[in-house]
Amino acid sequence: MKPAYEYRDHSLFCEDVPLSEIASEVGTPCYVYSAGSIREKFEAYREAFGATPHRICYAVKANFNLSVLALLARAGAGFDIVSGGELFRVLRAGGDPATVVFSGVGKTAEEIDYALEAGIHSFNCESEAELALLDALAARRGLVARAAIRVNPDVDPATHPYIATGLKEHKFGIDMADAVGVYERAASLGHVRLVGLSCHIGSQLLDTDPLIEAVDRMLELASRLRARGVVLTHVDFGGGLGIAYRPEERAPDVRAFIRLLSEKVAGTGLEVIIEPGRSIVGEAGVLLTRVLYRKRTGRKEFVIVDASMSDLIRPALYQSHHEIIPLRRVPALGEVVADVVGPVCETGDFLARDRRMANVMPGDLLAVCSAGAYGFVLASNYNARPRPAEVLVEGDRWRVVRARETYEDLIRGEL
Ligand SMILES: *Cc1c(COP(=O)(O)O)cnc(C)c1O
Repeated sequence: MKPAYEYRDHSLFCEDVPLSEIASEVGTPCYVYSAGSIREKFEAYREAFGATPHRICYAVKANFNLSVLALLARAGAGFDIVSGGELFRVLRAGGDPATVVFSGVGKTAEEIDYALEAGIHSFNCESEAELALLDALAARRGLVARAAIRVNPDVDPATHPYIATGLKEHKFGIDMADAVGVYERAASLGHVRLVGLSCHIGSQLLDTDPLIEAVDRMLELASRLRARGVVLTHVDFGGGLGIAYRPEERAPDVRAFIRLLSEKVAGTGLEVIIEPGRSIVGEAGVLLTRVLYRKRTGRKEFVIVDASMSDLIRPALYQSHHEIIPLRRVPALGEVVADVVGPVCETGDFLARDRRMANVMPGDLLAVCSAGAYGFVLASNYNARPRPAEVLVEGDRWRVVRARETYEDLIRGEL
């Protein structure tokens, strides 16, 4: 397994393409994704499941580029969507609607109807009111919708509070204690068949113990539901496996986790659904940026670059760490401790703080690492900044898979 990004003769490559070539032809800021890395991560999940009946529904919200979705569809992925817009993207990318599960706490009637029309696999419902709406909309179309209840297993995923979702205080899911009642009442709905049970406890989990705890609680609930006559065919454990953003971190072993999961489910006859996002695309992507200026204020050193929180908001939003490395290594120039900041008029606009890094100069190019998940999808036009281009690398070839936005794009739809 070759790393997707490595230095060759002091020059940073993605697969067999020097990143400086992409930066000079496409400009910066620019996202680059390794197709090989995405495929490899997906295959690791698929292989680990072995003969266990399963469906890997890639969480579209992590990276929704059409070419990324198409690549995963061809590899055999299903999709986990959280909006009508994401369903539109999956369909445009050639994804099979029959492999789509629809998650989210606030689905609108229009979105539910669109998904019914498309014929998705199932809805992960988060309230009885949503079940009632699904029933009414399915009745209008003369359909019976497949659904799962998203329960809240009340386990602490030990991650950043903004991406923990499985505690009692969170808006997500239904209390486990209430689940049996919900399934029993739903039996009277004529146009919804509750055939699944789902959860998602949070994101960027580096320790799988909380996930395993959730799996145990879910399987225990599934057997209680079956004992009461509920006909369950699948159980959906959500996403959440983390990646190593820092060199000293260790990502959980996907294969070991999936094998353990498969053992726990063996003999139940339940199909397993999982919804990984970050662990498939996160490490595949970098954000390329160019150094604009160096400056010193008070006792702080700044590296001012042309990428900002409008391109990558994770450091500002989640205090997250991304390694920042030069496209061309010049060890003789030494190191500096600096804040890496963008042009946006916010003190929160930083990509790194007090970072020991290469002593780069204006004009030099940098790669912000592990930016393939929750990067471009969270980009905005704040400060009227066009969103960056996206490039997909495949071996020694690369192509722009989303053009950089223009000033005209910025005002489209305005009157
Ligand atoms: C965000 C999300 C995922 C994906 O989470 P990752 O941490 O990126 O794997 C899966 N399922 C649901 C319901 C989500 O909200």
